Amino acid sequence: MRLIRVMCSGRVDLSFVLRAFSNGIDGVFIGACHLNECNYVTHGNYHALNMVLLCKRIMEHIGLNPERLRIEFMSGAEAGLFIESVNGFINKVKGLGPIGQGEGIGKDELKARLAEITRLVPYIKVVKNEKLGTRLLNPEEYDSFFTKDEIDRLFSEVISYYIDPEKCQACMTCARRCPAEAIISAKGQIHVINQEKCIKCGTCFEACPPKFKAVKKIAGGLVPPPLPEDQRTIVRKDKEK
Ligand code: SF4
Ligand code: SF4
Repeated sequence: MRLIRVMCSGRVDLSFVLRAFSNGIDGVFIGACHLNECNYVTHGNYHALNMVLLCKRIMEHIGLNPERLRIEFMSGAEAGLFIESVNGFINKVKGLGPIGQGEGIGKDELKARLAEITRLVPYIKVVKNEKLGTRLLNPEEYDSFFTKDEIDRLFSEVISYYIDPEKCQACMTCARRCPAEAIISAKGQIHVINQEKCIKCGTCFEACPPKFKAVKKIAGGLVPPPLPEDQRTIVRKDKEK
């Protein structure tokens, strides 16, 4: 067991959990403060709870047993409860077997599935932002808060962004704002989104000036191939004369 201390359970990001699984960790246990006893106005433990509920559904979606992830609420004074909870979890995970093996998924396949989901974490957080901030007051709501259908839909309708080469005016606004440096940009060149680097935050869609409207949102469909490099130079009409 490896213990990682954080200032607040709300600090435990979805990508941290996925990274642990990707590194071959068999189970992740999050010990959070009791709900409604958070030190901070943010009530980070509610965020942690929602993240866990979401992550469990994502795990199901990629074929991982959701019981490999658990959150329990306890105070710093409840050492006995901590020991009991962690021991119970370890026994559970031992029963499930090594990650992937217990589910019948090969190592490489599991890594590939986790890498694909990890790449989508910023997108998932944007789409589920409102739900992730909800304070679930009744434990009976936990199971149905995120549904299997909802998560299947989330991945089948993944949004992609594409720059229409007919409309791009190479103003460079999108490239300056892109947080992932995913836009191939140069002066006088039609801009192109590198789909491998794009984290689907939608910033370019919002940033492209309305008079150009060059960034398109594609839901679940195929993204057209990028314009070949030698065809990206913009020839302005006034310069053609
Ligand atoms: S959606 Fe646009 S701004 Fe966001 S990462 Fe992708 S290319 Fe960059
Ligand atoms: S903001 Fe729009 S017009 Fe400007 S470079 Fe980006 S896609 Fe092209």
